Amino acid sequence: MESKLPDVGTSIFSTMTGLANEHGALNLSQGFPEFDTSSQLKHALSAHTLAGYNQYAPSPGLPVLQQEIAALVARRYQQDIDAAAQVTVTAGATEALFVAIQALVRKGDEVIVFDPAYDSYRPAVELAGGRTIHIPLCAPDYAIDWTQVSAAVTQKTRAIIINSPHNPSAKTLKQADLDALKALLNKHDIYLISDEVYEHITFDDAPHLSVLRDSELAARAFVVSSFGKTFHCTGWKMGYCIAPANLTVEFRKIHQFVNFSSFTPAQLALADMLRDAPEHVDELGLFYQQKRDVLVEALATSRFKILPSEGTYFLLLDYSDISDVDDVTFCQQLVEQIGVAAIPLSVFYDKPNGDRIIRLCFAKETETLIAAAEKLCQL
Ligand code: PMP
Ligand code: GLN
Repeated sequence: MESKLPDVGTSIFSTMTGLANEHGALNLSQGFPEFDTSSQLKHALSAHTLAGYNQYAPSPGLPVLQQEIAALVARRYQQDIDAAAQVTVTAGATEALFVAIQALVRKGDEVIVFDPAYDSYRPAVELAGGRTIHIPLCAPDYAIDWTQVSAAVTQKTRAIIINSPHNPSAKTLKQADLDALKALLNKHDIYLISDEVYEHITFDDAPHLSVLRDSELAARAFVVSSFGKTFHCTGWKMGYCIAPANLTVEFRKIHQFVNFSSFTPAQLALADMLRDAPEHVDELGLFYQQKRDVLVEALATSRFKILPSEGTYFLLLDYSDISDVDDVTFCQQLVEQIGVAAIPLSVFYDKPNGDRIIRLCFAKETETLIAAAEKLCQL
């Protein structure tokens, strides 16, 4: 059969986790917490299951969860959104991104993405008949040159995808970035997809500058988030999309034919958590900041150059003082020879730039972080 995605292979995350398991390595590659989700959330899930809430939810999501999401937006970003008309619960952020892209992108449309870019954007754009236009960002700042973005806009540009806090660079967008973005969207008829799955994981007292805080940006945006990141339950694949009512109508037309609705007991349990344990969300940044600091400190005597991590649960390491091999080979050597799995950064680029940088996930127990750092310090 002729492939619709001829350039796509198995995701790097599956590949590296497979290699880590094969070699019994410490797995700091694929981004997921090593620790469990809270017992409060697990008990809520089983209580709702036992109480018989096991049939389809309404396709947009259970009203109780839509309302708790709207309350979260009001509390964190001081914005009122219409829960029923604007919030759609999805099977993880991955579904929300896919559906938003299918809703927006038509044959021949162009979508601007910033490299390094999360791996699901491009295939979703291509399946919709569009083409991604890649703007490369450079280490160590990964700053966006908005003049370059402006120059990349054509008659065919349909949307821009941003991701802050950013996987894999761990950088966050600043107010100047959002101002420049707004000027661009106002000048051209372009939409925005804002991947904010790490919205509650920012460090050093920096607030997350959600697109939802700005009514002009929000008027053109699909804002995507993930309960997997927020509640340490990536395996539940629960997320959501917030968009203006007119865009949400189009989003839901497609969502109903992708998975129709998401896991009912999990929707109820997550609504309980948002209502009863707001401190979990409020303390998440500090929780991960401590893990970042443990890892950074434990790597202080290593020969890696450590790049700043402003948010997410990722840390980038430049190994150019240690080895000349390319990053894919370096990661293979790491897993096979010293027993640590990491992600090579080149896989997030359309045109890899020869950087010698790897990504570590620090959503791990302290002992795992220390043990991995000890091994990395031997290099
Ligand atoms: N976007 C980014 C930037 C991510 O890192 C991830 C998960 N790793 C996702 C989207 C997908 O989230 P989910 O697991 O909720 O589908
Ligand atoms: N987003 C996670 C990461 O960046 C992985 C998600 C996945 O495996 N699809 O590591």
